[in-house]
Amino acid sequence: MPDQRRSYTRSLMAPRIEYTSCSNQGLVRKRNEDAWLELALEDGGHVFVVCDGMGGHAGGNIASQLAADSIGEWCSASTEEPEKQLCSAIEAANRSILERAASNPELHGMGTTVVAIHLGLDGACTVAHVGDSRAYRLRHGRPSQLEQLTDDHSLVGRFVREGTLSAEDAEMHPYRNMVERALGLDQPLEVELRSLATDPGDRLLLCSDGLSSEVPDDEIAQILEVEDVDEAATQLVDAAMAHGGRDNITVQVIELGLNGGQSDKATGGGRLARLWASRKRFRFG
Ligand code: CA
Repeated sequence: MPDQRRSYTRSLMAPRIEYTSCSNQGLVRKRNEDAWLELALEDGGHVFVVCDGMGGHAGGNIASQLAADSIGEWCSASTEEPEKQLCSAIEAANRSILERAASNPELHGMGTTVVAIHLGLDGACTVAHVGDSRAYRLRHGRPSQLEQLTDDHSLVGRFVREGTLSAEDAEMHPYRNMVERALGLDQPLEVELRSLATDPGDRLLLCSDGLSSEVPDDEIAQILEVEDVDEAATQLVDAAMAHGGRDNITVQVIELGLNGGQSDKATGGGRLARLWASRKRFRFG
């Protein structure tokens, strides 16, 4: 099955950004349960979303698409500040999934992960996530510095953070696909948020675990350096396939233009102070 994809370059009054989304069902799964969203906001900002429908549950593809659509609708209409906006949007998506499941017994238990980024005109970036879909940043001109911006809300992710499992062993762990947080579950929704500044030339990557479970971070970093954003996305999907393609693969590659982004001069304060400006958790339900 060919990739589903879209590429876009935007350069109005806003800093120029380029982005590409690419999704493939992989080599094993019978359908693609991932969903994604690219949204250009009226104020010049952008929202990007990747959702991974829960494998093994009924309606995983419905849950992920509902979540992406619902987040898009919320953010299009919202005037809230980015952290609140993403949280409210994800909470609304969770309600949509629970309501749809309640009205159709066949869909009971469907769920999805979500990772979402709000990118402001000034290069301010807010990352929200639930589950094990990831956001990464490759800093411009520093190829070895691929940063994972999200902690996996998964059983093995927690074991690694607690120091009881090595990152290497986690890759082969039989329960590596078990997520501890998701939308659509009968438990309180907990969204993790992080805010950071970006610099011109930085690249952001959102992906489902069909990429991150198959392709090591150093290989992801190497591919993300490929000059053309569209080509980088293609090569990431190809790499996941070459490693086995055992799950659906979705990637979004976003590049902040070299004439855009937030500068130290404009914002005041040193870069270190701004990189991890805030990290909060919101709990619902
Ligand atoms: Ca998956």
